[in-house]
Amino acid sequence: MKTFKTGGIHPPENKFTENSPIEEMPVPAELAISLNQHLGKPAKPLVKVGSEVKKGQLIGEADGFISANVHASTSGKVKAIKPHPHPGGQYAMTVFITADGKDEWAEGLDTEPADWRNFSKEEIIGKIKQAGIVGMGGAGFPTNVKLSPPPDKQIDTIILNGAECEPFLTADHRLMLESPEAVIEGLEIITSLFSGQAKAYIGIESNKKDAIAVLSKLASPKGIEVVSLKTKYPQGAEKQLINAITGRTIEQGELPFDKGCLVQNIGTAVAIYEAVCKNKPLVDRIVTVSGLEIGHPKNIRTVIGTSFRDISRFCGDPKESTNQIISGGPMMGKALFTLDVPVVKTTSGILFVNNAGIEKARERTCIRCSKCVDVCPQGLAPWLLANVAQIREFDEIQLLGLANCTECGSCTYVCPSKRELVHWIKYAKALVNNRQKRKSA
Ligand code: SF4
Ligand code: SF4
Repeated sequence: MKTFKTGGIHPPENKFTENSPIEEMPVPAELAISLNQHLGKPAKPLVKVGSEVKKGQLIGEADGFISANVHASTSGKVKAIKPHPHPGGQYAMTVFITADGKDEWAEGLDTEPADWRNFSKEEIIGKIKQAGIVGMGGAGFPTNVKLSPPPDKQIDTIILNGAECEPFLTADHRLMLESPEAVIEGLEIITSLFSGQAKAYIGIESNKKDAIAVLSKLASPKGIEVVSLKTKYPQGAEKQLINAITGRTIEQGELPFDKGCLVQNIGTAVAIYEAVCKNKPLVDRIVTVSGLEIGHPKNIRTVIGTSFRDISRFCGDPKESTNQIISGGPMMGKALFTLDVPVVKTTSGILFVNNAGIEKARERTCIRCSKCVDVCPQGLAPWLLANVAQIREFDEIQLLGLANCTECGSCTYVCPSKRELVHWIKYAKALVNNRQKRKSA
């Protein structure tokens, strides 16, 4: 069974919802659609307070190269446009829509499926851009940009990321089981953009045997290889996935296309199929709602802009003992300070947990056990990065490979001294970025 060469951990999986079919959540009475759904510059608002909108109507236009369109995810009236808490932890300009209950599509959207083979590459990329598709695995990079690498970069390997290695999350697993044809067709559309020479793979962790079986059946007649990957975190990280499937290593400063590779998430592939074949903008997504503190853990399909509060009600409300709510998985997700944040295109999960029994993080002295070094999939020395961050030696920390840290959290997870290693690394990254921005201003 394939896996990446360096490091990795195996946290308890807690995939409570792996057998829970996707439920449709009704559109709530009010939506908060963030204009910051992606990496890069937020979209420019195209509507005003009082505007009537239809589902799928463009309400925010991509502003620059690294940006993405944003659409209304139901029909109704714009109630306000103002800064609002975002699941990423910051405030972002947000369009509030009062739903009219009709959920009416704008004309020409979500149509009968058309054959993508009739479209040129430019038309396919244009439809993906128009639909506002971004990486749905968490990164949120605009997909049309990722699918247009520089002409001197030859892509020979396309990988769909079905690893879903974060504990608790099962949204991609369910999507592979329930919409396998759309997954395959999305991957075929992506592959068609690269000269027909590129080999396509779907990487899935071995703990999803049913998904491996379903997709293998559809994939092999089309020359797509489904690869069973060892269940090991962070198997779904882009660099680790590429290493596991191709043996290639993405060095510091390189991007996957430098090694001929392109990786897309399962949800993104389905969104590509829907945009290209059905003219459907990205207005909804699958979210895993889980943790021992929520009444009914489940996988839901919900429209972008649904508040976490409405979702928690739909899932039976959090227990009183809930003391932490996380957007995303437990390894890379973000703890929230309010439930009044909306689902964005990168929201993969919402976890309701009680961590009262867990020893409070109180940093102790490093005992030089080297566990953090052993598990780091990027071959870094996390203890040293954290030490150097604490004394603010930002030139030295860059030489130690700061930029190569993927913030996977494996080092913090294993540290017996409870050192907040990723915290310090993120702190150093933020200060280094700010310093570079000031220099280039
Ligand atoms: S968070 Fe960074 S330093 Fe820590 S294990 Fe992951 S890649 Fe290595
Ligand atoms: S795991 Fe913790 S205690 Fe061990 S070397 Fe790394 S930082 Fe030090």
